[in-house]
Amino acid sequence: MKICIIGGGFAGCSSAEILSHINGAEIKIFERSNILGAGVRTHFYGGHPYTFGPRHFLTTKIETYNYLKKFLKLRNCNYHQFKSYVANDNQFYNYPLNTKDLNKMPDKKKIYKEIKNTPKKHNAKNLEEFWIRSVGKTLFSKVIKKYNEKMWMVSCKNLDTFNWSPKGYTIKKGNKAAFDTHISCYPTHKDGYNRYFDLIDKIKNVKVHYNQKIKKVDFKKKYIRTNGKKFNFDVLINTIAPDTLFDFKFGKLKFIGRDFHKIVFPVKEIFPKDVFFLYYPGDEKFTRLVEYKKFTRHKSKTTLVGMEIPSLNGRLYPLPISKEQKLAHKYFKLFTKNTFSIGRAGTYRYEIDIDDCIYQSLEIKKILERDSWKSPIIGKNILF
Ligand SMILES: Cc1cc2nc3c(=O)[nH]c(=O)nc-3n(C[C@H](O)[C@H](O)[C@H](O)COP(=O)(O)OP(=O)(O)OC[C@H]3O[C@@H](n4cnc5c(N)ncnc54)[C@H](O)[C@@H]3O)c2cc1C
Repeated sequence: MKICIIGGGFAGCSSAEILSHINGAEIKIFERSNILGAGVRTHFYGGHPYTFGPRHFLTTKIETYNYLKKFLKLRNCNYHQFKSYVANDNQFYNYPLNTKDLNKMPDKKKIYKEIKNTPKKHNAKNLEEFWIRSVGKTLFSKVIKKYNEKMWMVSCKNLDTFNWSPKGYTIKKGNKAAFDTHISCYPTHKDGYNRYFDLIDKIKNVKVHYNQKIKKVDFKKKYIRTNGKKFNFDVLINTIAPDTLFDFKFGKLKFIGRDFHKIVFPVKEIFPKDVFFLYYPGDEKFTRLVEYKKFTRHKSKTTLVGMEIPSLNGRLYPLPISKEQKLAHKYFKLFTKNTFSIGRAGTYRYEIDIDDCIYQSLEIKKILERDSWKSPIIGKNILF
C-alpha cells in the first residue's frame, strides 16, 4: 500500500509512524522545509530551549497520551496555571475566570447582576452575542472582546462559530484550576519533542522528501508531482490547507499567522511559581507570553519568554467563521476515496491540537485496517 503524506508537522509525522505498522505500507512524506515537526520542534536561544508558542500536551484522550509516552518521557504539569492581565483593573485573573476572580473585580456588583440576567438558553448569531448572553456585557468587554479581535483580526460580530470557544466559557466555582479534567504534560528531554520527529526519518518503510513544496495532486489518477517526479499513491494523507491542492480554484482560505519574539530576562524565573502562560486581553499588541522554563525546567540564571503577536505571517490559525469553513468543505468534497485531510490546517479547524493530530492518525489506521475504507474522510468525521 503506497501512502503519500503531505506535510511533516505533528499530523504528518504521527500518521507516518502509526501507519508504518500496517503490513505492506510504503510511506512517503513530502515536507516543504528541511525539518520535521514545524512549530513543535524545539530550537535554542542563548541555550534556552523553546518552541514556536507553548506546544503543551494537554488532552482528555488517554490513547494519545499512551501513544506519545512510548517515545518520550513526559513530565506531568497538571499544576500549571494560566493568568490574564486586565490593565483597567490592574489585576491578574485566572484564565478561564473563576468566581474568586469575579469577587476581586471592582465592578463585581454590575457583573453579577448581568450574569444573573443572562438567558438560560440562547441562539447567538455571532461571538459577541454568544458571550454577552453567556456572561453579560461588562465581562465580555473586560476579558473577551479585545482578545478575540486581536486574535482573529476581525470584529467579534464577524466570528460566528463557537465550537472552539467554550474553553473559557464556564466560570468555575471557587478557585478551581482551568483544565483539571485533562492530562497536562511536556517532554522531559532538553530538546522537547525532537527525538520523536527524528525517529520518523529512521523508520524502514518511511521516506522523507525534504524541500518539496506540493502544489497540486491528481486525485483521479492518484499521484503527486513534485520537482518533475511523479509519485503514485493508494492512500493520501493531507495535512496542509486544502485550497493549496486545488490551485485555490474556489478562492483562498483565510488564516491568521503569528509574529514571534523571544526575550531573555536577567532573572532565574519571572512568572510566579506554576504560572506557565500569561494572556493579555486588552490593547497590548500581543496575545500571550510563555515562560519556557516552566515547561522545560531548563536550568539557567536567566529566563526566556516568548511573545506571540497575531499577524498575517503564516497559515496557522483557521478562522472560526462559517463562510470560511463552508469554503473549506467545498474543497473537502473534492477529496476522493482513500484520501484523508487531517491536522489543523488540513481540517481547517482551530481546535485541533497535538493530541488531536495523534488521535486522527490512530483513527486512520483503524479505517485502513478494516476493509471498508469509507473515504473521503476529513478530520471532522474522524474526531466526533
Ligand atoms: C503558536 C501556536 C501554539 C500552539 N500551542 C499548542 C499547545 O500548547 N498545545 C497543543 O496541543 N497544540 C498547540 N498548538 C496547535 C498544534 O501545535 C497544532 O495543531 C499541530 O502542531 C498542527 O500540526 P499539523 O501537522 O496539522 O500542522 P503544521 O504543524 O502546520 O505542519 C504542517 C507541515 O506542512 C508543511 N507544509 C506546508 N505547506 C506545504 C506544501 N505545500 N508542501 C509540503 N509541505 C508543506 C509545513 O512546513 C509543516 O511542516 C499551537 C499552535 C500554534 C500555531
